[in-house]
Amino acid sequence: MQPERPRVLCLSGHDPSGGAGLQADIETLSAHGVHALGLVTALTVQDSRDVARVIAIDPDLLRAQLDCLLADCRPAVVKLGLIGAAAQLPVILDAIRRCAVPVVCDPVLRAGGGSPLVAEDFASALVRQLLPGITVLTPNAAEARRLVPGAASLEACAQALLDTGCSRVLITGGDEPGASVVNIGYRPDAAPRRYEWPRLPETFHGAGCTLASAIAARLALGDDLDAALLQAQVWTQQSLAAAFAVGRGRRIPGRTRP
Ligand code: PLP
Repeated sequence: MQPERPRVLCLSGHDPSGGAGLQADIETLSAHGVHALGLVTALTVQDSRDVARVIAIDPDLLRAQLDCLLADCRPAVVKLGLIGAAAQLPVILDAIRRCAVPVVCDPVLRAGGGSPLVAEDFASALVRQLLPGITVLTPNAAEARRLVPGAASLEACAQALLDTGCSRVLITGGDEPGASVVNIGYRPDAAPRRYEWPRLPETFHGAGCTLASAIAARLALGDDLDAALLQAQVWTQQSLAAAFAVGRGRRIPGRTRP
């Protein structure tokens, strides 16, 4: 008899280049021996350089898919990536309530190539409606600043995000200048934890999705939050070191064996 495979419910965008979005989730989870229950929140027109268009999936279709799936399958963790539109938030919130498991949220707002992935007012809807139910939030520095406009520092952003009810806010520093990449894990009840990684020479497409999925995988396998954050960063760093080109733009993480 095969041991039971934990399942992670993923709500993510589809990226035809295969670097980010649901494919990043499926590859990362599979590499950890975890099964992805995958729902597409948005289709995109994009390549390895940037995103040209985002087409949100109808919230009614998303609700029907979730109703059907959750009547049958019980996920150990929920992982949220790109959310196609604010109109999807009530449907996603309802699914989170029904699952009653830890939720990892990568608050995707803008593509690494610079184009917005969500409407201008989406960040405030995300903070107000979704964040109170999130266990781990993984913004990069730019996303943290956009989620908390006007905050005096990244620490102040993290505090405001923790104040919504999240258990951990991991602000990643891949998009910040510096010889190394510094990620900082904030929690309500203890000092922040600093993680420092060598900055690799290339730029990457899908690194944030990979990290958030790896955290979801580690939680589904039974890690506590601190172990999950650390082990997921180690694994993501290894997949970035094994990154490869799929086109003329940024490299995508090597999440599967060649
Ligand atoms: N497309 C989708 C569907 C995504 O989920 C994301 C990021 O999470 C992106 C594009 C942008 O990825 P990146 O900023 O790594 O290029």
